Amino acid sequence: MKPRVRFAPSPTGPLHIGGVRTALYNYLFAKQHGGTFILRIEDTDQTRFVEGAEAYIIESFQWLGLKFDEGVGIGGNFGPYKQSERKEIYKPYAEQLIANGWAYYAFDTPESLDTKRKEAESQKKTFQYDASTRSQMENSLTLPENEVQRRISSGEQFVIRFKYPENTDIPVHDLIRGNVIINSNLLDDKVLYKSDGMPTYHLANIVDDHLMEITHVIRGEEWLPSAPLHIMLYKAFGWDAPQFAHLPLLLKPDGNGKLSKRDGDRLGFPVFPLLWNDPKSGETSSGYRESGYLPEAVINMLALLGWNPGTEQEIFSLEELVNLFSLEKISKSGAKFSLDKAKWFNHEYLQVKTADQLYPLIENVLTTKGITSTKEYTIKVLELIKERLNFTNDFWEQSDYFFVAPKEYNAQDLKKRWKDGTGEKLRVIDRLLQQDSAFDKQAAHDRVMEHIKANEWNMGQVLNSLRIAIVGAAKGPELFTMIELIGTAEVHQRIETIIQKIEN
Ligand code: GLU
Repeated sequence: MKPRVRFAPSPTGPLHIGGVRTALYNYLFAKQHGGTFILRIEDTDQTRFVEGAEAYIIESFQWLGLKFDEGVGIGGNFGPYKQSERKEIYKPYAEQLIANGWAYYAFDTPESLDTKRKEAESQKKTFQYDASTRSQMENSLTLPENEVQRRISSGEQFVIRFKYPENTDIPVHDLIRGNVIINSNLLDDKVLYKSDGMPTYHLANIVDDHLMEITHVIRGEEWLPSAPLHIMLYKAFGWDAPQFAHLPLLLKPDGNGKLSKRDGDRLGFPVFPLLWNDPKSGETSSGYRESGYLPEAVINMLALLGWNPGTEQEIFSLEELVNLFSLEKISKSGAKFSLDKAKWFNHEYLQVKTADQLYPLIENVLTTKGITSTKEYTIKVLELIKERLNFTNDFWEQSDYFFVAPKEYNAQDLKKRWKDGTGEKLRVIDRLLQQDSAFDKQAAHDRVMEHIKANEWNMGQVLNSLRIAIVGAAKGPELFTMIELIGTAEVHQRIETIIQKIEN
């Protein structure tokens, strides 16, 4: 049987990069086995709905190049794929559980539950709605049948809770973690359905996984505590449960704990795929795309955060990942995010792109700086400075002197290189550069070198001073290639400007 897997985000805000990794692992698993990768939007909790989050999720995967086979925005034979559009489906299932004794109506008000919680707290205990307490609460197990019916038909608020059997061991088999056994006495009778006609996550998730014929549930570790309930729900319905694989957490780079948006803000890296403007708080969060990451690099980096192929290889195309991926090689412990590693991956992926391929990604950098340049010139610049880029956003910082003359000069470099008479020497070199009407890089290089040697000038001093004049600092790619691109007329201007500024 070919696997059917789903990524099932709730549209409660921007998609955390950990969620992207969950989707990626689902994708790799599905593709490796010729299966189906599904996008289901779990939006039953109306109170947590955030405008724009669904569109954000879809756009993120478009950018990353991970294509769903079925789901929201694509369609398929198991739709609708958005839970709010499936609302009517869930009620009969909740009623079926009640009819079979696996669930019950509960009428307890938030106030009465709060009182119970406080009572328990005062005895240093925590209140749990379970086999030991449900007989003292207001529900269909304690109230007479006609009273239950009266309350429901008079429109009184209720919830439907799952009824765990007392003191029963629930085995959870996880493909990553192995077997875990949880006793039902430790578990809370979770709410499955509310009188507003909406199922909770648990019920909708199980019903949909069943109806959509999901074979493997691959999701974040934070859902592990819900697994016993889900397994019991399958049992209660008499359905075969899918296989479960709970992925390790993505951890902050320093210290312990889950990678949060705050870590990103603090250490300067995005935790969301795309830039996000929160419609409620107005707060903006940075995204990988806008920070100059390549989607292939983000995917490669995420693939290795929690999984490893068991070799030293680190660079993988998506196809290679599809071939090599295995749930067995996912680690049980959390994976630490590393900014240096993210940078390294992006650098590597930038290097294998041609300047032509990079051009569309940096074009807008020049526009925002108010620079007009030809594509041909910009591509030549890209070829020269590509190896210095970690992010496409570094482009300007690494190449501004190809487009505008330096406004200031690096003080340290000047102090080290600029000596009495340097200006005069640069004027001589300027004349040597302009000697031929058409600039010939090799001939100009040889002329300059010969002159420096014949006059016993300090080579490092002179050539670095020339760099300072052109670039603003003693850095940059090969000097004569740079001069060729910038042009001898502009280089002449820059030499005169630095002499004016330094020697007058
Ligand atoms: N809607 C849940 C989430 O937001 C899905 C959890 C699951 O995959 O079962 O992560």
